[in-house]
Amino acid sequence: MSYYDTLIFDLSTHARKGYTLPKRTFKRQALPTHLLREDCPGLPEVSEVEVVRHYTNVSMKNFGIETGMYPLGSCTMKYNPKINQDLANLPSFSALHPYQPTRTVQGMLKLLDDLQSYLSEISGLARYTLNSYAGAHGELIGLMIMKRYFESRGEHHRVNIIVPDAAHGTNPASAVVAGFKVIEVPSEKDGSVSVEVLKGVVDENLAGIMLTNPNTLGMFEKDILNVAELIHDHGGLLYYDGANLNPILGKVRPGDMGFDIMHINLHKTFSTPHGGGGPGSGPVGVAEHLVPFLPKPLIKKVDNTYHIERDNETTLGQISHFYGNVGVAMKAYTYILSNGKEHLPEVAKFAVLNANYVKESLKDLFELPVEGVCKHEFVFNGLKDKSTGVTTLDVAKRLLDFGVHPPTIYFPLLYKEALMIEPVETESKQTLDRFIEVMRVIAKEAKETPEVVKGAPHNTIVKRLDEALAARQPVVKYTDIPK
Ligand SMILES: *Cc1c(COP(=O)(O)O)cnc(C)c1O
Repeated sequence: MSYYDTLIFDLSTHARKGYTLPKRTFKRQALPTHLLREDCPGLPEVSEVEVVRHYTNVSMKNFGIETGMYPLGSCTMKYNPKINQDLANLPSFSALHPYQPTRTVQGMLKLLDDLQSYLSEISGLARYTLNSYAGAHGELIGLMIMKRYFESRGEHHRVNIIVPDAAHGTNPASAVVAGFKVIEVPSEKDGSVSVEVLKGVVDENLAGIMLTNPNTLGMFEKDILNVAELIHDHGGLLYYDGANLNPILGKVRPGDMGFDIMHINLHKTFSTPHGGGGPGSGPVGVAEHLVPFLPKPLIKKVDNTYHIERDNETTLGQISHFYGNVGVAMKAYTYILSNGKEHLPEVAKFAVLNANYVKESLKDLFELPVEGVCKHEFVFNGLKDKSTGVTTLDVAKRLLDFGVHPPTIYFPLLYKEALMIEPVETESKQTLDRFIEVMRVIAKEAKETPEVVKGAPHNTIVKRLDEALAARQPVVKYTDIPK
């Protein structure tokens, strides 16, 4: 432990100061006595350098994509270029107010409108709304659109949404919140859905299906056109979960696969930092026949002037304040333009190449349930050698000692020891090689000194936590730390 680890929460020394206030030039006001404080507020008394060191040290205890590799599966934790932030910070955009007259915010409206059309072109859907704050919010809006669509056709009985068991947890949750009934179907061994299984659950109550392609195991759903045909033949709609779109950028489009509605996570695919709760953005795109059901406000261009359409009666109504998180939209816009049409497909290429490189380099030591080329991510079922008793949780904790953020663990629920790795497109071969090396060292330790892995982490500030307790009774104040 360093000097600052021991003293970080208790640096205060009586009467030490880190500020100099200007000489008081205002008159003392007579405040009512009941508003006057009797005691000092009890703030730490520290010098400037102590404050700076304190916050710098605290910031270094955090792990982020700028500290090391972050191979969290189903999350696309990629490096986010700083130019995105620079542009989003430009005062000519960031100082705008949503209540300004539209004629004074034409530039921002053009940017948002252009971004919507880029997303349409990338995904093959007719029209987007940017008014959604997150992936899960996008799902909810997409499903509400679906609901309105069936209501408009008098098909109130269509309440069944098919969701594969490997789906992201937000999918069934959103379906239930939107008032649908979830029909869970088992995935095949490679995480795909079987047309035969689907045939058994489609009936006159079918509303639609929620899928992601590549699926949760990172495999491309080869039967997707047959799935789309089956669902459409039964009067249902297809919803695409496009949270992690990087493996297919510029390669294939959900609209061409037959999907009617989708959301995209700008904060995963289009390079906004995420984690810790936002801000996010989950634009929702729809096929032509669903455009009238989009939420308002919508941006409309007439004679080279942008307007905000607020009173279209057939829409879903308003589902967020104003126009969503425009700062996130600006970062996505910058990212798309700085890659350009020529280079966006390279994002997909490297996301896929990197995932396959890591998978092939480790599959002799880690159990790979599904062989073959994956897309942006893949799932191991823990260490191949199960005799050591070392679990996926142990491997994840040991990675921390090497300064690597653990992959996603115990998701999807298809395997007992799931370890889901997404290296992403922005990592170099050297970084991937180091990750592979560390994983191989851990596999060796599991055999030779399993207690080292089972006791990990050893080098972190907090050791292994009781995860349930850490979530239910988080200790976030230094005064709560047991002495
Ligand atoms: C992250 C993710 C979501 C949810 O997105 P949020 O912005 O966290 O609400 C949904 N589906 C998949 C596949 C995801 O990876």
